[in-house]
Amino acid sequence: GAPGTLRDVFTATAAFAGRDAFVHEDGRITYGDQLRLVAHLARHLAGPLGVRRGDRVAIAMRNHPEWPLLFWATQVIGAIAVPLNAWWTADELRYALADSGTTVLAADGERAAVLGEVPPGVAAMLVVRAQGPLPPGADDLSARLRGWTGPCDLPDGGPAPDDDATILYTSGTTGRPKGAVGTHRNHTTNLHTMQLAQAVQLARAGVPADLLTAGPVRFQQLVPDIPVPSALQTYPFFHIAGLVGLYIAAGQGAKVSLMRRWDTERALRLIETEKITSATMVPTLLRRLLESPLRGKYDLSSLLTLGAGGAPVPPDLVDEVGRMSGRAVSPLNGYGMTETTCVVVSNSGEEYYDRPDSVGRPVPVVDVAVVDPVTGKDAAPGETGEIRFRGPHVVRGYWNLPEATAECFPDGWFRTGDLGHVDADGFVYVVDRLKDVIIRGGENVYSAEVEAVLFEHPAVADVAVVGVPHRELGEEVAAVVEVRPGTAVSAAELRGHVARRLAAFKVPTTVRFIDRPLPRNAVGKVLKRELRDMLAL
Ligand code: ATP
Ligand code: MG
Repeated sequence: GAPGTLRDVFTATAAFAGRDAFVHEDGRITYGDQLRLVAHLARHLAGPLGVRRGDRVAIAMRNHPEWPLLFWATQVIGAIAVPLNAWWTADELRYALADSGTTVLAADGERAAVLGEVPPGVAAMLVVRAQGPLPPGADDLSARLRGWTGPCDLPDGGPAPDDDATILYTSGTTGRPKGAVGTHRNHTTNLHTMQLAQAVQLARAGVPADLLTAGPVRFQQLVPDIPVPSALQTYPFFHIAGLVGLYIAAGQGAKVSLMRRWDTERALRLIETEKITSATMVPTLLRRLLESPLRGKYDLSSLLTLGAGGAPVPPDLVDEVGRMSGRAVSPLNGYGMTETTCVVVSNSGEEYYDRPDSVGRPVPVVDVAVVDPVTGKDAAPGETGEIRFRGPHVVRGYWNLPEATAECFPDGWFRTGDLGHVDADGFVYVVDRLKDVIIRGGENVYSAEVEAVLFEHPAVADVAVVGVPHRELGEEVAAVVEVRPGTAVSAAELRGHVARRLAAFKVPTTVRFIDRPLPRNAVGKVLKRELRDMLAL
């Protein structure tokens, strides 16, 4: 069917009213509860708070169950949701609030405490889970939610498919986060392609086509041996991967298990108790899960898919998923970015086991191009260049940044800033971020390639490879290594390990051992800027 709006996606969840929508630290919320609370909240926003179509409403909280309530309420009335990073400082929060022109802010108690007051320009501040007294002028939303027990219909009206739905800030891995403006059509097309991809997988598994088109509820009744989806939500909702996880679950009537912060044992326990069928996360967390000494204590047999994405996925992780499950669990790689409304290339199942170093093939409605990053001309087949995407998933640009928009979105294409190539079968390989490529004496060294090799060494718990300035060569290769507790390894041994697998110019000259975790941002991506600064000292 033709994609509509996120309001349509939400309205359709009425079919799942009796099911659990969220399992969280303090209990559960059903789809029916969600529908009622969102209706009250949408009326509150549109009524007393005066929020109109196109107005910005920011959400600054951890993965509490109130986050989706706020999100859906904005989408129901056609407001633009502005998810804010829960790790940000008061200055960063105020910057994004001012940048987006937010008039209504919903915050959790922790964010309210960080801000201390209703930020300038914000007309109404709603607080859930207050910790202590509210900032003067703020409103206790948790109290209101408790009072909204009666039935309530969604208010009339709502957005059109080409209206702006979200302003999502990029992760800020390479610089200051940019607000990518996503329309309803970007999101609903994305949801639709995800559902199609799933249908293709099920069709390959022998499920007849007429069942696939019956709609999620009917389908789940007709094929009872395919379990109702149960997802572990590891990405923060404010990140595109977390937000997409939220509406994909809504589209299927899936149960979503939330974690306020990552806890490996709780994740393992949730997989067992909530019979989680799919869990995707950044590669670091997948490694923690797979390598946890507690793993054997829990029954993980409900898992059908175990995925990673958002950052380069070292191929050894894919092998480990296979070893853990005897290949019964499908590994999944999702490659995408905030500007492409999440995953535009993905690899899964046997194809991924066969090509653990590829991010997979593009989704059907997206065009991929590999071009010379300087001239913008197409690279020869198989040749490495900058990866670009075009299609209905690509956002219309950055909020308030006309120059960056013109530069990054030439002729309807999005320049990812990632380097890679496409093989003869259409599989995409991401080799590095352009900004992370090390140019050592004229030779390109892809940091991700050297990292993948170092990860194979049993003493390496975590590693990042960066370039450091060198007088003659321009740049040198340096590795920052966190050693696995209880093991010891020398720089010479690690260099030897790399030298046996890669060309001599890729072998790190400097190996720096650290005894604390690598600096990472809220989504778990290594902040290489900080490592370069550290090594420069
Ligand atoms: P910023 O743009 O602010 O520097 P960011 O690029 O990290 O931050 P996101 O939009 O969250 O912000 O991340 C997209 C980037 O993450 C991609 O351009 C790519 O570099 C990396 N990435 C995402 N998924 C994968 C994957 N499966 N494999 C390799 N790299 C990935
Ligand atoms: Mg980026």
